[in-house]
Amino acid sequence: MVSGPGGVGKGTVVEALRGARSDLTVSVSATTRPPRAGEVDGVHYHFLDDATFDEVIADDAFVEWAEFGGRRYGTPWESVAGAFEEGRTVVLEIEVQGALQVKKRFPEATLVFLLPPDPDELLARLEGRGTDTPERIAERMRIARWELAQVEAFDHAIVNDDLATTVARISSILG
Ligand code: ADP
Ligand code: 5GP
Repeated sequence: MVSGPGGVGKGTVVEALRGARSDLTVSVSATTRPPRAGEVDGVHYHFLDDATFDEVIADDAFVEWAEFGGRRYGTPWESVAGAFEEGRTVVLEIEVQGALQVKKRFPEATLVFLLPPDPDELLARLEGRGTDTPERIAERMRIARWELAQVEAFDHAIVNDDLATTVARISSILG
């Protein structure tokens, strides 16, 4: 699992990791947030309405789910089961509460926490990404303070400064 505060670079790192390692399967999450420009349903996320998300919870069809910034996000069993059966390594790119749930359920899972080079850089990346309003950025920074305090629960902490170095470090952790 690759986790860490929003804006630290999880999506970017996992995308680069996917390019570097064809043996990995990256799970496609479900979310109730609306798609951003360029996001494709079924590729970046399964975009669900609240009622459908509730049904998936009721069917016990999520590996984990969590609320983040007023929206819900979850890993559908369907996104990972096939790859597990084939013995492939599955990568989850999820926020901190979900990562801790998975670790409880699957202690053998490897938790990687990405840290920003410094807290100001987190703000700079959220602003630089250009996908969130100033209010949502302020909310994500508030959540990030709690998220950063959870780093001790993780197996590995990596400062995501140089992208290629981060990808190489995660790749060597995966073996
Ligand atoms: P997350 O998935 O953790 O919310 P993103 O992958 O969307 O974060 O990255 C947030 C912003 O930071 C993006 O604009 C991305 O291009 C930039 N970014 C990601 N990794 C790095 C890095 N190692 N160095 C500089 N900028 C980065
Ligand atoms: P975003 O809205 O920026 O795409 O994602 C917000 C946060 O939700 C990010 O920290 C991202 O890693 C996390 N996230 C994405 N998918 C999942 C998921 O399936 N489960 C959980 N718990 N978090 C997720």
